[in-house]
Amino acid sequence: MTTNGYNPYQHAISQLEPVAARLGLDPGIHAMLRTPRRELSVAVPFKRDDGTIEVVRGHRVQHNIALGPTKGGIRYHQDVTLDEVRALSMWMTWKCAVANLPFGGAKGGVTIDPKKLSLGELERMTRRYASEISAIIGPNQDIPAPDVNTNAQVMAWIMDTYSMTRGTTVRGVVTGKPIDLGGSLGRNEATARGVAILVRHMAPAYGMSVDNAKIAVQGYGNAGAIASTLLADLGGTIVAVSDSQGGIYNAKGLDIPALREHKRREGTVTSFPEAEPVSNEELLEIDCDILVPAALENQIHAGNAGRIKARLIAEAANGPLSPEADKILFERDVIVIPDILANAGGVIVSYFEWVQSLQEYFWTEQEVIDRLQSKALEAGEAVMAMAKQEQCDLRTAAYLIAVRRVATATTERGLFP
Ligand code: NAD
Repeated sequence: MTTNGYNPYQHAISQLEPVAARLGLDPGIHAMLRTPRRELSVAVPFKRDDGTIEVVRGHRVQHNIALGPTKGGIRYHQDVTLDEVRALSMWMTWKCAVANLPFGGAKGGVTIDPKKLSLGELERMTRRYASEISAIIGPNQDIPAPDVNTNAQVMAWIMDTYSMTRGTTVRGVVTGKPIDLGGSLGRNEATARGVAILVRHMAPAYGMSVDNAKIAVQGYGNAGAIASTLLADLGGTIVAVSDSQGGIYNAKGLDIPALREHKRREGTVTSFPEAEPVSNEELLEIDCDILVPAALENQIHAGNAGRIKARLIAEAANGPLSPEADKILFERDVIVIPDILANAGGVIVSYFEWVQSLQEYFWTEQEVIDRLQSKALEAGEAVMAMAKQEQCDLRTAAYLIAVRRVATATTERGLFP
């Protein structure tokens, strides 16, 4: 979102700058890394159910291809801007690099509130957007996946639309597909599972444990709802959750299976019984040990960072902490597991899905979970070791690893022509 003076692209750039300086990056390489490689903005006309035509704006940004084809989700939201998509594409580059995946970063977005569309309108809008960006996506080029307000059904429509333009079924063009169409077992839960694996593994290094921890989760969607379940399964007490309509709090812990069912039935967490209502702002400042922002960017900023009570923040969302908040929280000894590490489980299993789709050979769910665990832990260990070695926060450590990998690949490839 580019609102109230907050610009996500500036946010992403300001995270890169100090790391580039610390690594002593060549100015030319630095300029390449800060500039998205390719940006496509399209008009997306589609028919409403009453026969009228509506035109919305869509984007696909491919930030960097040094490590391989680009990869990143597609977001449908009324506040999507090109700068937001640029920022998200840059974060995807660092995320793939820190997880050691053979991908660069990309992102897509359409400026629309999909909740105001019927299913038919959503399909027509998705297919037109997919067709408009089909010139630059593809299994060896750029592979979309779900993000905010998109899901397996949206991916199925994109796969089908792309396949129609090629005259053959191309499974590898998207990840996060339905299982019947070649989606990977474990992909739907992957982002949240990665968060849970990393929080469980990293918390003890900072004198904490998920077991018995009081946990608050902002954003009860794909990442946040499943993270709530997995963290509760690990012994955590989920005291508060929220969605776009507001939050709920119970100091003794929310009944998570009942809450899941309630959200499925009612479409919101806010009317859940046995909990008191809290606003989204209050939720972030609630008395808890672990906070999991799983909604949108810039939720914790200079205005509220000083009031956060959690001792550990795991960024399931992309960019939920502003750079100013990072500084304040670091000074207050709050541990932040940064987005490019914490939520990398999603793209790690997307990578597995892509591999399975290309080979037309599919793995068991346990294989997916085991391989996710080993890749996430490898990345988590590397980031903790770097933070220790460099005496820095975990975000800086993750960036040092990621930016160095991409810069090295860029240098090794050399500059065309
Ligand atoms: P989603 O659409 O499934 O869920 C988003 C949730 O956030 C919804 O419940 C929505 O109601 C809620 N929300 C929106 N605005 C809010 C606000 N102001 N306060 C509280 N809640 C609010 O989306 P998702 O896929 O779970 O993505 C959430 C975040 O996780 C995004 O930052 C996304 O980029 C990131 N992420 C997602 C994946 C993935 O695989 N889905 C992977 C990596 C990162």
